[in-house]
Amino acid sequence: MAGYNTRSVQARFRKKDPHGSLIMPLYDTVAFEADTAADLEASFRGRRPAHAYSRISNPTVEFFEQKLKDFSGASAVTAVASGMSAIASVLLAIAGSGDNIVTTKHIFGNTFSLLTGVLAQWGLQTIFADLTNVASVEQSVTEKTRAVFLETITNPGLEVADLSALGRLCRRKNILLVADTTLTPPYLLDAPHFGVNIEVLSSTKYISGGGTTLGGAVLDYGSYDWRSNPHLRAAYQKFGPNALSGVLKTKLCRDFGNILSPHNAYMQSLGLDTLAMRAALSCASTLALAKFLQSHPLVRRVNYPGLAEHPACTVAQKQFPRGAGALLTFELETPEKCFSFMDQLKLIRRATNLNDNKTLIIHPASTIFCEYTPARRLEMGVTDTLLRLAVGIEDLADLQEDLQQALEAV
Ligand SMILES: *Cc1c(COP(=O)(O)O)cnc(C)c1O
Repeated sequence: MAGYNTRSVQARFRKKDPHGSLIMPLYDTVAFEADTAADLEASFRGRRPAHAYSRISNPTVEFFEQKLKDFSGASAVTAVASGMSAIASVLLAIAGSGDNIVTTKHIFGNTFSLLTGVLAQWGLQTIFADLTNVASVEQSVTEKTRAVFLETITNPGLEVADLSALGRLCRRKNILLVADTTLTPPYLLDAPHFGVNIEVLSSTKYISGGGTTLGGAVLDYGSYDWRSNPHLRAAYQKFGPNALSGVLKTKLCRDFGNILSPHNAYMQSLGLDTLAMRAALSCASTLALAKFLQSHPLVRRVNYPGLAEHPACTVAQKQFPRGAGALLTFELETPEKCFSFMDQLKLIRRATNLNDNKTLIIHPASTIFCEYTPARRLEMGVTDTLLRLAVGIEDLADLQEDLQQALEAV
């Protein structure tokens, strides 16, 4: 198989472009015309591969899916409106009232609220376990567990679960393993190799790169027998091994409206071209900056899965051989020092978001987690003295100099 850079840059269109365009044009249109009434009927009945309406399918979106498929080696890819939409779509497709999902309390805040708010209202239960402890997961799963859901690196705790161990457990119990790989997309992680069946990710982050557009994707590696899930048995009759992507495309995109817009697909397709290069650079810089911060007397503690001091360092090295992501956290002595440090930064931007091309810093306790009580924040590992640095692709020396001068000025 060609390398990641070649695969993303050289993905081909399914149909020849009439003008020989080298990049997939932006088909910013809603409807597509057919030559005859019979052609239109055939495309609606799925007998003729043609686009009819952009909520059902669109050439620019389809090309982005094709490109992600080539890039990742997945057997089916569905692009959707955002990372949250990818997560919600999968859960809505695989589970129903009376079922449960096993996950951890340390997941992304909006995913936590999706599970405990919106989906709980529809009768889906969430069981919380310690995903870094396989025995705890095994005790938590029941007959009604439709999936174990994890994040490959949690944010901002930067917890790393042992995917192989969870993969083995899920295979033995015939439970679907779904991983949110937003922080370690394909190139950084070969998810199916570790037993992950379904990858969901926010393409808003690493894939878009420049932080240009929202998007999400569901990658199905074809390793789960959908006949084991009561909600997908009927779809299996129709779509075979692509039952999940069939349901995502017809029910969640067409009927629910979770579709990715053509404009966003166009931007993200361009972003995907350079994902591997950007990820390699930002991960290498993150490790270097983590070591730099660790050696600084004003810094109390640094957390990064690439550091030898991280509790899951060995697992992280095995799972992310090309770099343990581009997110690190560190602590200063007081919340006041955190604020003053942030205000002294000249290059690094004060903003949320991560895996942007620009390096961003945020104080999670007073922003992303401001709605939670201090006790709940501590439970989530968010102290008042914690800073989160999302490293971009600027030159390492410039980033280090900015951190250094701001620490000296505190
Ligand atoms: C940002 C993020 C999401 C949500 O993605 P959106 O594209 O903003 O909807 C989900 N999971 C993780 C881990 C994220 O960082």
